[in-house]
Amino acid sequence: MKALVAVKRVVDYNVKVRVKTDGSDVDIGNVKMSMNPFDEIAVEEAVRLKEAGKLAEIVAVSLGGKKCEETLRTALAMGADRAVHVETDEKLEPLAVAKLLKAVAEKEQPQLLLLGKQAIDDDANQTAQMLAALLNAPQGTFASKVELGEKEVSIKREIDGGEETLALKLPAVISADLRLNEPRFVKLPNIMAAKKKPLGKTTPAELGVDIAPRLNVVKVAEPKARQAGVKLADVAELVEKLKNEAKVI
Ligand code: AMP
Repeated sequence: MKALVAVKRVVDYNVKVRVKTDGSDVDIGNVKMSMNPFDEIAVEEAVRLKEAGKLAEIVAVSLGGKKCEETLRTALAMGADRAVHVETDEKLEPLAVAKLLKAVAEKEQPQLLLLGKQAIDDDANQTAQMLAALLNAPQGTFASKVELGEKEVSIKREIDGGEETLALKLPAVISADLRLNEPRFVKLPNIMAAKKKPLGKTTPAELGVDIAPRLNVVKVAEPKARQAGVKLADVAELVEKLKNEAKVI
């Protein structure tokens, strides 16, 4: 059984992003980039399934500029067998990503399609859902447990007030929640070995996918700076302020 895992190159989660001076976008010049954390979890899950003998092959896919190769090498170092880079310098919206992943899936014919629940740059949380719709495949989003069978995959997902268990017919699309697992630390020998693993290249044009943007970003702005707090002497002062200044009691 084969799994396709989508890995996006995003600004590292430790970086405090800045907005470009013209307000057109976030400034990613000279900023540390990494694999989207939820995609790391998706790769880890695929590797664990392979180690458990449930998967035969893991193919990592990334869409974007030349440097996505680094993200794919990380996925290969974690345990993916092969990588596919859909190279483009155009900005990709979730719909374009979903269409490209569908085109790759049609070639690769995976039983399992694993994605992150959201990319921490656009926070869209749309791609897995759109991909499932385009493939007409069942979807299990925000998976916090995955059990892979021969014809079905069962997932647990958190919902309001509890947990839901879904059984999905394969092939299925799953998006990884934070709780699913804790990704492994990649060791140097694995990083070296990953350099020799196959990394195939294609383009949106080769896949016959129209990636023209459908959305127009009007403005990107920093959140308003918060006012500094004050330290109060006692509860009486707090009550006085809540009554007379904030007027909430
Ligand atoms: P989003 O819908 O943008 O929040 O992204 C959800 C998931 O879709 C991510 O966690 C990735 O698994 C996948 N994804 C989105 N964009 C890309 C990309 N450019 N390359 C590879 N995977 C992507």
